[in-house]
Amino acid sequence: MTPTIYAFTCGWLTLPKAVLLEGETGSLTVPVPAYLIEHPKGRVLFDSGLHTDTQADADRRLGRLAQFHTVHFAAGEEIASRLRAIDVEPESIDLVINSHLHFDHCGGNEQLPNATLLVQRREWEAGHDAETIERVYYDPNDYDHGHRLRTIDGEHDVFGDASVVCIPTPGHTPGHQSLRVRTGSRDAGSGAQEVVLTGDACYLRRTLDNLHLPTIAYDREQMLDSLRRLRVLRDNGAMIITGHDPEMWKTVPQAPLPVT
Ligand SMILES: [Zn+2]
Repeated sequence: MTPTIYAFTCGWLTLPKAVLLEGETGSLTVPVPAYLIEHPKGRVLFDSGLHTDTQADADRRLGRLAQFHTVHFAAGEEIASRLRAIDVEPESIDLVINSHLHFDHCGGNEQLPNATLLVQRREWEAGHDAETIERVYYDPNDYDHGHRLRTIDGEHDVFGDASVVCIPTPGHTPGHQSLRVRTGSRDAGSGAQEVVLTGDACYLRRTLDNLHLPTIAYDREQMLDSLRRLRVLRDNGAMIITGHDPEMWKTVPQAPLPVT
């Protein structure tokens, strides 16, 4: 059974380049992606973008994070509207897989009331530990909405057919995970295409090419390890879609077109 991936842009962020690539100067405006994965056994969202409060008053919602980010997020760009635009009701999402618990990856969870959250146990625990919340810049207002919860430890085959697999890629945060999806390909004859949605384990293509880390990471050694594992997947033919690369994003078809 072959899943299909759809990509959405749920707003943009402008931030100092050094936040993404240590030592660089200037600023960069980057997309906030979210993905729908349609599998015969369920509807999955990988990340959910920003909370709609950031449309009204981003500085207030972001608090101390506002100093690093300018939010560009118009009404209609939030995940619920993006889904409805392709005739998918937000209430019909079965599973939300959050790469991690930062505001631009799980802020839209509240708009998906019937979903079960699938998160690495380490990430969920970190998101409920006062000290780590402070250190890693989490905001429980993004993810504490009483959803059903499924925590996992390490690699996890979501539907038991190896088509959608959570792969742990810690370092950016304690329990960060990426998602490997085996899709059919539009390119007839080339067969299955493996796509890896990295989330913030890898911000930009250059992060992977040069192992160029961001300024801020929870654990730099873990992050390097995760990047090396993503490189192996890339070298084995996977299409790697990084977390916030404006150049790469231009090449990723947006819904209603499938990604592959
Ligand atoms: Zn992010």
